[in-house]
Amino acid sequence: MIRLENIRRSFISDDVETTALAGINLHVASGEFLAIMGPSGCGKSTLLNTLGTVDRPTAGHYWFGDRDLAALDEARLARFRAEMLGFVFQSFNLIDELTIEENIELGLVYRKDRHRDGRGDRKTRVAEAMDRVGISHRARHFPHQLSGGQQQRAAIARAVVGDPRLILADEPTGNLDTENGTQVMDILTSLNAEGATIVMVTHSPSHADYAARRIDMLDGSIVASVSRAI
Ligand code: ADP
Ligand code: MG
Repeated sequence: MIRLENIRRSFISDDVETTALAGINLHVASGEFLAIMGPSGCGKSTLLNTLGTVDRPTAGHYWFGDRDLAALDEARLARFRAEMLGFVFQSFNLIDELTIEENIELGLVYRKDRHRDGRGDRKTRVAEAMDRVGISHRARHFPHQLSGGQQQRAAIARAVVGDPRLILADEPTGNLDTENGTQVMDILTSLNAEGATIVMVTHSPSHADYAARRIDMLDGSIVASVSRAI
């Protein structure tokens, strides 16, 4: 489904060049659950942002199916993101002024075209998404009224309410205690079992073990790739 070919990304600030990605080659199969590990600053978030097309590589190719994403302009990329991707962040990134229900509905804002597919209207989809992450009883609450674990589950509902092909999660359990972290990993595992492709950055070896494959990064390169024996 995804093919990165020799992806490079460098940042220049104050005349100093930092190489965040030093030639990444990576395939991600449809339905795969991939974990990315590595020390702080090794390029994990830059790689995830590249996969999410919110960061543009300095060089290299990104194929998604048979599409060369480098060939798409910003408007088409925005549409691609809205239709194909779901993002989950360490810091949840819910909007404080909106209720949980409204936050989750934001995941459908750009999806007007796909609401005639027999899966019901927006409210039904939002209700289903809340139900699957166990947050329905907090629909009318605001983010600050929820625990961290509840906020992250709501953020996952927002990411998946539009049925994305690919879920990108950057340290989704980084701000959570053990119990809430396990809940989030169980939800991601069940989404993957239902067909979603997941790429997740984590610092937790035990959370990486939920993924079928793990890659380790160092200084902008992939230095190991390990598949879990099943
Ligand atoms: P990780 O997620 O593994 O901690 P990042 O991908 O965030 O690492 O960063 C990789 C390298 O790129 C780091 O050296 C970081 O300082 C640098 N970097 C990331 N984003 C930017 C940016 N927007 N401007 C300048 N340097 C950046
Ligand atoms: Mg990071």
